Amino acid sequence: MTERAESKQEMEIPCLVIGAGIVGLCTAISLQERGIPVTLIDPEPPAEAASYGNAGVLSTWSCVPQSMPGVWKSVPKWLLDPDGPAKIRWTHLPSLLPWIIAFLRAGRIERIPAIADAMLALNQPTIELYRRHLQGTGKEHLVRDSNYVFVYRDPAKANLDALEWRIRDERGTPLERIENGALRDLEPDISEDYRAAILVKGQGRATDPGAIGKALAEKITRQGGQFLRGKVRRLIPQDNGCFHVEADNRSLAAAKVVLAAGPWSATLLKPLGFRLPLEAERGYHMIFADPDVALNNSVMVTDSKFVASSMDMGLRCAGTAEFAKLDAPPDYRRAEVFKRQAKRLLPKLNTETTDVWMGQRPSFPDSLPALGPLPGLENLTMAFGHGHLGMTAAPMTGRIAAALVAGEPPNLDLTPYSLERFQ
Ligand SMILES: Cc1cc2nc3c(=O)[nH]c(=O)nc-3n(C[C@H](O)[C@H](O)[C@H](O)COP(=O)(O)OP(=O)(O)OC[C@H]3O[C@@H](n4cnc5c(N)ncnc54)[C@H](O)[C@@H]3O)c2cc1C
Repeated sequence: MTERAESKQEMEIPCLVIGAGIVGLCTAISLQERGIPVTLIDPEPPAEAASYGNAGVLSTWSCVPQSMPGVWKSVPKWLLDPDGPAKIRWTHLPSLLPWIIAFLRAGRIERIPAIADAMLALNQPTIELYRRHLQGTGKEHLVRDSNYVFVYRDPAKANLDALEWRIRDERGTPLERIENGALRDLEPDISEDYRAAILVKGQGRATDPGAIGKALAEKITRQGGQFLRGKVRRLIPQDNGCFHVEADNRSLAAAKVVLAAGPWSATLLKPLGFRLPLEAERGYHMIFADPDVALNNSVMVTDSKFVASSMDMGLRCAGTAEFAKLDAPPDYRRAEVFKRQAKRLLPKLNTETTDVWMGQRPSFPDSLPALGPLPGLENLTMAFGHGHLGMTAAPMTGRIAAALVAGEPPNLDLTPYSLERFQ
């Protein structure tokens, strides 16, 4: 028997997007391009979660998964170093263990090529699609062309023969290794202790990721889209293929649903019988509001594993991976670490005025999202789990999700993003 709440007035909508992060917003824009009326629901204003405070790397060429062969050798060192790039809240370890095992399995060499291709397919079109989405918003300047500059203190480590660089090279990534002088020409404020760099060319960077989300939200509203405030509590499939959606303050009848609630998405699928290995992999940022220095590109500091980028609000350092229960309180000591590390990168950095932030990446063990119809419920499209690269992959994800809602072929093999990979 179909379950249904009788008491509340039900609002009927053709397509409901759950979550107004960057993935939900890009999906909504692509739905509107196809003439499909769109409603978004979120308890928060648009682009306030991970999509607000990320490092803004629009990483066209990203195709190297987080789990790589041999990564396990570095993990103990990272965990034991108080300034290290990864932390586990030990109370969370028992529930995290299956994810860790799946993460290590995903890093086997034979899995890497297929994962790399699937990552690249979502990341490649990012700049072109953001520029199209931002057209007419007056915020087109928020996406800039950029190199992605990986800086090394030890020049021997800037090794294009290493696996991570070969993976990129085999897929046509424009790479260049540069030495001390050329690095100083490119980024005059970086310390001379960084003696080599590898440039990934043809990338983009967002100078205010949250503002991109807000600009898209305004465009969606101008084009007739509707934003509802509320947290979806339950999705109840109906016999006619539609969904009864129970939110905090209202009840909706949706013909189609796109689930784009970032790390919260898995919770909504559990009552439907799906248990997904989705972790809230939290990261932090620190903004130096009056930095007195500037970077011309996104800079990946390879020894500390964080990204530094000059943005509209100051110089932002973002990164680290902390594993804790979803919505556990932030530990801002993880962000304070950036003060020392950023000063080492940029000796003239003014560290007086800072602001810190925490966000939760929706991370599957194999660095790929869940994208496609939910098995058995074709009218529910999954669009979540982009981990470290959701800002980059959002526009292409949105395009595919919108095509599925419209009943069009997505023009991409969705097998790598299906839930079958977890069986
Ligand atoms: C420190 C850090 C640096 C990063 N740097 C980069 C980078 O440089 N480049 C890059 O590509 N990516 C980067 N990322 C990753 C990127 O930010 C995320 O992958 C991306 O923002 C995820 O977007 P999303 O829309 O899926 O999720 P979110 O932005 O988390 O949005 C999900 C939305 O769903 C809403 N929601 C939750 N539950 C419900 C519910 N029950 N009902 C309704 N709504 C709900 C939430 O309120 C939220 O607004 C970084 C992340 C972090 C943390």
